[in-house]
Amino acid sequence: MLRTHTCGELNMKNVGEKTTLSGWVQKSRDLGGMTFIDLRDRYGITQLVFNLETDKELCMKARKLGREFVIQAMGVVEERSNKNLKMPTGEIEIAVTDFKILNESKTPPFTIEDESDGGDELRMKYRYLDLRRNPLRRNLELRHRMSIETRKYMDSQRFLEIETPYLIKSTPEGARDFVVPSRMNKNQFYALPQSPQTFKQLLMVAGYDRYYQLVKCFRDEDLRADRQPEFTQIDCEMAFVEQEDILNTFEGLARHLFKEIKGIDVAEFPRMTYADAMKNYGIDKPDLRFEMKFVELNDVAKNKGFQVFDDSELIVGICAKKCAEYTRKQLDALIDFVKKPQIGAKGLVYVKCNDDGTFKSSVDKFFDQEALKTWAKKMNAKTGDLLLVLSGETERVQKQLGELRIEMANQLGLKDPNNFKPLWVVDFPLLEWDEESGRFHAMHHPFTSPKKEDIELLSTDPGKVRANAYDMVINGVEIGGGSIRIFNKDLQKKMFKILGFTDEDAQAQFGFLMNAFEFGAPPHGGVAFGFDRWVALFGGSDSIRDYIAFPKNNAGRDQMIDSPSQISQVQLDELSLKLIKD
Ligand code: ASP
Repeated sequence: MLRTHTCGELNMKNVGEKTTLSGWVQKSRDLGGMTFIDLRDRYGITQLVFNLETDKELCMKARKLGREFVIQAMGVVEERSNKNLKMPTGEIEIAVTDFKILNESKTPPFTIEDESDGGDELRMKYRYLDLRRNPLRRNLELRHRMSIETRKYMDSQRFLEIETPYLIKSTPEGARDFVVPSRMNKNQFYALPQSPQTFKQLLMVAGYDRYYQLVKCFRDEDLRADRQPEFTQIDCEMAFVEQEDILNTFEGLARHLFKEIKGIDVAEFPRMTYADAMKNYGIDKPDLRFEMKFVELNDVAKNKGFQVFDDSELIVGICAKKCAEYTRKQLDALIDFVKKPQIGAKGLVYVKCNDDGTFKSSVDKFFDQEALKTWAKKMNAKTGDLLLVLSGETERVQKQLGELRIEMANQLGLKDPNNFKPLWVVDFPLLEWDEESGRFHAMHHPFTSPKKEDIELLSTDPGKVRANAYDMVINGVEIGGGSIRIFNKDLQKKMFKILGFTDEDAQAQFGFLMNAFEFGAPPHGGVAFGFDRWVALFGGSDSIRDYIAFPKNNAGRDQMIDSPSQISQVQLDELSLKLIKD
């Protein structure tokens, strides 16, 4: 090996020992007769020292080393006179007796420090240099530890890790497929899996009653900030289970990760129905780190002569603690916030609960002090609090107030990244109406089973049918989701019909699965977790990109390798593909 130690391990105990280190030159300083070099590798930084007086030639050679040169340095561990107790190696330095340049480096296009001076694009282009920085190294180490702990837990629960193919045909998870042309089968295409959904179900039919896989999935979606076209799931499936069994098993996984990775014992996960989540938080992934639960005000605010409220299906508000002192400007900013086109509210009513027990509201003309007091009471408000009220059509208002609730939490700094509030959201609707196509879509995917007690509604009022589907939510982030599956051919056929598939289409696309259901399919269900997102959450960040070694940018491009890119005419010909000119 080209080293006896790493750059992170030598300390006072090693003083006097000979050592050989290899690494990158982080920086060098010449101070009078001495030259100091910080040598870096994955494990840390060790100071090298060269003495002009004792070895002029070596010292002069060291002074020529540029940033990011790769060197091998031989020397003796010595106690430093100027100690840096913040670093594990900060009490020692290496008096270098000889060194070798293993490779030179151009001057890097940005500084390789914890805080780099490089812009996003430049750092993406030179990702291998960015990855040398501590924050990214720590992120990848966290990712590694989480994957190891996941595998340990899954193994302890007798799950088998089984790989499924990447060259498959469409799996419906609601996005577009990435497709791969087949050379040997002219004019035919593989699709890359949006998830291994159908394969894991087939594994249940095959009798592998506990499957999991850390697996790449591919979805061709319009990219939003926190999406990657390829991402990693912890994909899981179990046979002979009911919903409760799945929730408990994977709550176990989450607990294990919280304990091993974060050192936290989390309480039992609360279970909340989708209907309650929408009613109380206006979102299907409520952030429970903060309160501001919705309070309905219809009975105290309707029919009191304020037309806007009288015309509304729902009047609902939140209580922002200690915000009565919000200035006119701050309140106007909140009004602008809810009126943004993405939120779409027409206006916002506020009530300040003043310290002297009086109220000041934006609807004083319609509601006297007595009336506002009933609101405040209903909302459990104290003096000093601010009530924020929206009204309109139920679903829309709930969503709008949900956004405002999160905005208030942002403003009030209530999103402590070290506080974790996980929960399960259950009983999702099976179907969701899509205005554009004028038909139902599966809210989760077409293999999700309806709740037994709702099956009858399938023929009469499909929009009302609830599914055996669930999401794990942590701090307002959907970490994972899954469902109990349909395992009966006829029900599966019926489901495809409701989703607008003709029998022929369903047979052509999913015949293999429905056929398998005729050979003794056991009851089964599963879940998949967004691994990148989970790692980012544990890392205290919103950006999954920082937890992926080689991510794509927001336009789905890999700027380092410059992909996607054109292919040669020869390749095109082999694949019988023709380019179109635009
Ligand atoms: N295949 C689903 C997904 O990727 C998860 C599941 O139902 O297990 O979201």
